[in-house]
Amino acid sequence: MTQPVPDLPVREPAGQPVFRFAPSPNGRLHLGHAYSALLNAEFARRRAGRFLLRIEDIDLTRCRSEFEEGVYEDLAWLGLQWEGPVLRQSEHFADYQSAFGRLRGLAYPCFCSRRDIAQAVAERTGEFWAHDPDGAPLYPGTCRSLGTSEAEARMAEGAPHAWRLAMDQALAAARGPHAYGSFDLDGRVRPVEARPERWGDAVIVRKETPTSYHLSVVVDDARQGVTHVVRGTDLEAATDLHVLLQRLLGLPTPLYHHHALILDPGGDKLAKSARSEALADLRARGITAEEIRGRLGFPAVMSQVTPNHNRHPPVTPRA
Ligand SMILES: [Zn+2]
Repeated sequence: MTQPVPDLPVREPAGQPVFRFAPSPNGRLHLGHAYSALLNAEFARRRAGRFLLRIEDIDLTRCRSEFEEGVYEDLAWLGLQWEGPVLRQSEHFADYQSAFGRLRGLAYPCFCSRRDIAQAVAERTGEFWAHDPDGAPLYPGTCRSLGTSEAEARMAEGAPHAWRLAMDQALAAARGPHAYGSFDLDGRVRPVEARPERWGDAVIVRKETPTSYHLSVVVDDARQGVTHVVRGTDLEAATDLHVLLQRLLGLPTPLYHHHALILDPGGDKLAKSARSEALADLRARGITAEEIRGRLGFPAVMSQVTPNHNRHPPVTPRA
């Protein structure tokens, strides 16, 4: 849990507020996505702000063009308007690599599999081993002790590797304390202390894709001029890491609002991988967008889509 820190000042950004909804097209959207998208749009409406859409498709093995089409279809059906152009992350790997280039001196290659990490942690018998906020054991630092020449030789051989942030060095370079502003429905902002160290040596470039969620999201929030991030509490702890990356990259820190997650009747988080009903299924059963909005607590009538909105890039099938 993050604690309020009254002595860390946070400022309301100047100018027109900018919000964004940023789904991953690795499945159809469900009620949880609808809630997040509607809440973003509602905040933007109340503050005469802009509402942008970003397609977070860095995972090329799981993201599919038909799911991206589904995002546009479902959001339009909900009555949402977004401003074009849509930013599609898979078209910006070079930008994430360029941002990584600026962090490279604070990072090291890691060749470990999940199993290697579990094994290394298990070998530290009798030691209390901390876990990151997602429940994974903190990285035991195995690859930090590899010499530069050994690491380079393994990379030259094509050994799969991620890049981890050397957290102690990153914290020394960024100099804390770190904080961000958390805003509520009434627009009140309170400072929250960020503790990126609880992520340990976090992966900032993954093995299978030349970036990570954390790196891409901070680069793109800055690129799109996002001033207010509205997303689920499942990403609240990740914000600590995002604040650190923003500081290291010289990017502004937006204000954040982490909303409660919509749970399924069994009390579990709705996930695309779980068998939660997609918006498309609800629609096929004859449920209207008005009913969905009402069920989620949003006004039944939203303004009509205007011609300048809802432009999205052509979607071409992925291999
Ligand atoms: Zn490693």
